[in-house]
Amino acid sequence: MFEVAVEHTFAAGHALRHYKGKCENVHGHNYKIRVAVRGEKLNEIGMLMDFVVLKKALRDVCEPMDHVFINDLPPFDVLNPTAENMAVYICECMQKALADNPHPVEVAEVKVWETDIQSATYRPASVK
Ligand SMILES: [Zn+2]
Repeated sequence: MFEVAVEHTFAAGHALRHYKGKCENVHGHNYKIRVAVRGEKLNEIGMLMDFVVLKKALRDVCEPMDHVFINDLPPFDVLNPTAENMAVYICECMQKALADNPHPVEVAEVKVWETDIQSATYRPASVK
């Protein structure tokens, strides 16, 4: 099994609903996102997936969240914008973005850092 990963960063604000503590107040993070994809076989030139394509997909998925108040952005207008929920959302968006990739890959893991020392990781169940 091969796995390749890319990272992307963006800045955004959020406020956690139903949370009793500082994070219920509006505040911001410099988010760092890491997406790893995996697959059994390499393509004809020895790649699991072109980093350029993977980076563009992650950038496109993150773009609507950059410099906005995430609570205003669906699905986070309803869903609490925790790092865990953001990881699931980004995973689902990446799965859609990579569905038509000519070489089959699946999202192995999405990690969302809110700060250098706190992160949430989502690993979807394997489609196999
Ligand atoms: Zn926060």
